[in-house]
Amino acid sequence: MNYLEGFVGASTSINSKKWGPLTMEVASFTPALDGDLVVHVGDPLERKSPLVRIHSACVFSEVFGSDFCDCAEQLELAMEALTHEGAGLLFYLRFEARGAGLAAKVKATALEIRGVDTFESRIAVGVSPESRDFAPVGRYLFEKGFKNIRLLTNNPLKVAHLEGTGVHVLRQPLLSSDPNENVKALYRTKAAKFSHWLPNV
Ligand SMILES: [Zn+2]
Repeated sequence: MNYLEGFVGASTSINSKKWGPLTMEVASFTPALDGDLVVHVGDPLERKSPLVRIHSACVFSEVFGSDFCDCAEQLELAMEALTHEGAGLLFYLRFEARGAGLAAKVKATALEIRGVDTFESRIAVGVSPESRDFAPVGRYLFEKGFKNIRLLTNNPLKVAHLEGTGVHVLRQPLLSSDPNENVKALYRTKAAKFSHWLPNV
């Protein structure tokens, strides 16, 4: 029996000490066996073009405060934007290491601290530098009636995958206000090798 079958669509409210009331819905957008989350802020269906963020989990940064990437800050900035607006959606996807998984992330990070960039490190450990598919998020949005959204992202792949499912996307950038040297290097690699829309830093 598929473990997730009985849970997809289930939701609960939590009261976040930081962000106030949030609704957490179970969904499945990634190969994670125990599913992903759609975090609802307010009532996004009331908005003509709600604010949306698609966030990939990063345990190093979010849980342990690693200074090697800006994932925790991106999550914080996105939640700030959504709660400031009073409505929106954040997809919390279990895509560690851009879909390569946690084990590959550990091995790749060991190379990255010696100066290998985040693209080459994935090649070196035998995984794809980018294997995420965001079309399932697009299908969810379309089916739920979110046909026009404003997406917080620097990643053209997310826009393309969502547009491919019929969702009209207006992009809004999401940038750390004060990136450290590691994050600046990450931005340069993401711009050069993943075609992300990022400023020259
Ligand atoms: Zn990260």
